[in-house]
Amino acid sequence: MAGTIQTKYSHYDYLIVGSGLYGATFANLAAKAGKKCLVIDKRTQLGGNIYCEDVEGIHVHKYGAHIFHTSNKKVWDFVNSFVPFNRYTNSPVANFRGKLFNLPFNMNTFYQMWGVTTPAAAMAKIEQQKKESGVTEPKNLEEQAISLVGRDIYETLIKEYTEKQWGRKCTELPSFIIKRLPVRFTFDNNYFNDAYQGIPIGGYNRLVDGLLAGIETKTNVDYFADREKWNGMAKKIVFTGKIDEFFGYKFGKLEYRTVRFETETLDVQNFQGNAVVNYTSHDEPFTRIIEHKHFEPENPFYQQSKTVISKEYSTEWHDGVEPFYPVNDAKNAEVYKKYRELAETQSKVIFGGRLAEYKYYDMDDVIEKCMKDWEEKNVIF
Ligand code: UDP
Repeated sequence: MAGTIQTKYSHYDYLIVGSGLYGATFANLAAKAGKKCLVIDKRTQLGGNIYCEDVEGIHVHKYGAHIFHTSNKKVWDFVNSFVPFNRYTNSPVANFRGKLFNLPFNMNTFYQMWGVTTPAAAMAKIEQQKKESGVTEPKNLEEQAISLVGRDIYETLIKEYTEKQWGRKCTELPSFIIKRLPVRFTFDNNYFNDAYQGIPIGGYNRLVDGLLAGIETKTNVDYFADREKWNGMAKKIVFTGKIDEFFGYKFGKLEYRTVRFETETLDVQNFQGNAVVNYTSHDEPFTRIIEHKHFEPENPFYQQSKTVISKEYSTEWHDGVEPFYPVNDAKNAEVYKKYRELAETQSKVIFGGRLAEYKYYDMDDVIEKCMKDWEEKNVIF
């Protein structure tokens, strides 16, 4: 349980546990409003999972590829006020047993799959496959996928990739996961429908530096090792870690997926011709290969004769590794609900971000939610 939080003699208005996007944004908004903040992080660096590491001068997305995209002008202006963004557009390619397909599912994909050249022909093909499958009201990811793009695409580009990514059958996963991806009847390989998209010029660390400029931070400190002490230092706590850990796992452990990265430096200028190549069959144990330099083609490092790639392996989370993705299935939703109810009773603690809200957030959603929380909960008790 959270320890007593002193209010009278507290040195800080906010103790922010975790310096990822939620924590850093909250600190920024609070500091702008004249509040005194301390941000602590157990890692040796700030920025949570958007942190980039310099390898051969290339900004390596150490905790997985991050592509900023949003339709929220306020959020876009906010992040651009710290660092300008480039015009990177995510257009991943899928490799299924050596054959390449464009993503997201669009006319290029339909042509590569079936040889169809018109939207009407692609729609007819999907409709026919949907009909054959007998799905009327999709109840899980498999049914949702078939009804969106038909059985062929489901079996080639979705089924095995999703099983690798989530370690669960597509029939056991919620349909919203696949609804993240656009389906288009145009020849448009842009992975996102959002109005704004890009990568911070000079890498994500510039964004983190901007958000946390002038704010007191401490790295390499474990909140849980001495939570009474930390709680006593501030009037309010912003907690961005795992909500189940915060409450001592009293309702059991929530499940997460973790990602392991095998990163290599290669003596080639251009390894795969794209930042993201998904491997959608079980033949490869990894889900995708990221070639980091392609996120920043305007950067001088782009021309050099070396490149850095990361293979991503997705496995079940256990103690001692980093939690990445909440597993939003029915079982975990039930457990999370109990933690959420308990969190509501903690008037001096704000829970925010992917881990504390147990939600598959994109970066812009995290910032938007944080802005909303700040507006609603910024009253110091
Ligand atoms: N997905 C898929 N095939 C792909 C890419 C994505 O089946 O080639 C599915 C998969 O279930 C994944 C979901 O779509 O978990 C969402 O993909 P997204 O790229 O949004 O995942 P993220 O980048 O957040 O890992």
